[in-house]
Amino acid sequence: MTKMIYPGQTIGIIGGGQLGRMMAVAAKEAGYKVAVLEPTMDSPCGQVADIRIVAPYDDEAALEELAEVSDVITYEFENIDYEGLKRLTEIAYVPQGAELVRITQNRVTEKAAIVEAGCPVAPYVVADTYEQLCESIEQIGFPCIIKTARGGYDGKGQQLLKSNDDLPFAKSLFDHSQCIAEGFVPFTKEISVIVQRNGHGETYCLPVGENIHVNHILHETIVPARITHDTATLAEEAAMKIADYLKLVGTLAVEIFVLEDGNIVINECAPRPHNSGHYSIEACNISQFTQHIRAVCGWPLRKPRLWAPSIMVNVLGQHVVALTNSISKYPDWSIHLYGKTEAKVNRKMGHVTIMTDDLNTALQKIKESGIWPE
Ligand code: AMP
Repeated sequence: MTKMIYPGQTIGIIGGGQLGRMMAVAAKEAGYKVAVLEPTMDSPCGQVADIRIVAPYDDEAALEELAEVSDVITYEFENIDYEGLKRLTEIAYVPQGAELVRITQNRVTEKAAIVEAGCPVAPYVVADTYEQLCESIEQIGFPCIIKTARGGYDGKGQQLLKSNDDLPFAKSLFDHSQCIAEGFVPFTKEISVIVQRNGHGETYCLPVGENIHVNHILHETIVPARITHDTATLAEEAAMKIADYLKLVGTLAVEIFVLEDGNIVINECAPRPHNSGHYSIEACNISQFTQHIRAVCGWPLRKPRLWAPSIMVNVLGQHVVALTNSISKYPDWSIHLYGKTEAKVNRKMGHVTIMTDDLNTALQKIKESGIWPE
């Protein structure tokens, strides 16, 4: 049953990273209180929350405490313990349910769901062991990518294989979990659609973003994506189909490959606000975080509109000093830093959004500023 959660009530968030922080800021704008469950004391979300529960994400007593103080519970990442979340749905109001997490935290169930929803994926096989992989790999051929079913992100838990000789490189992936072998998709672009749905079935997509990765980490998102109208429509329709199939409540980020002929292949989904949607904070009439809060609180959703073409660039640990030096030079940059104390190399520390009709000049300035990866 969809409930209406009103300002003044408390939203519990599992996970204290930057996504939780930006959700919390959106919630606080509307007058909600925020509670966060996060094992570290000084987390990005903890810094802006009203209540901090400092404990591991699967700590039963901590989850019960979160249930007690919260009128609704959401999460900022998908690798939460499914059993714990399921128990939480019995003692608290978790409108997103636990199924969405169960399905999307495992590439095997996730791919099956995307196919069931009627959307295209790369050809793939599932292998429980390295030996099974060796037996079934010829169904996929080379090049292919082996991915652990669970726990991979930003290219971790993946191995590109160019020929039979490379197979041993994939062996250690099976220490982690079962794997899938996936045909290499000769994409021309990577795009993402953030689709958001409330418990009444109202569904909207944010404008399609074009994602450029460097060293497997998202470096920039360009909006609108430089794709044809037909491809954008295909992408939005696919995201809506998956959202409907999963009976989504909240947010689903759908990562998509675009082929030379304009067709699409769905790569993967994340059941939460996504790095590639950060541009929406300034560049849209509703941010992905505000829409997410509306969705889990049972509010009507707003049809997203893009105010202006934009580029969002991630700020990694090695870029923080360059960014700080840029503040006085670039008044048109919207600067977001997540309050993380340790600026480790490749750690996402913040992002910058630039709204501009002149993408090339914006890119040039970003490069000059030094927040461009080597
Ligand atoms: P993932 O963790 O599945 O998002 O993969 C990380 C990155 O690896 C993607 O953003 C792509 O750039 C690349 N990649 C993943 N799967 C494939 C594939 N089947 N074909 C080509 N590139 C891929």
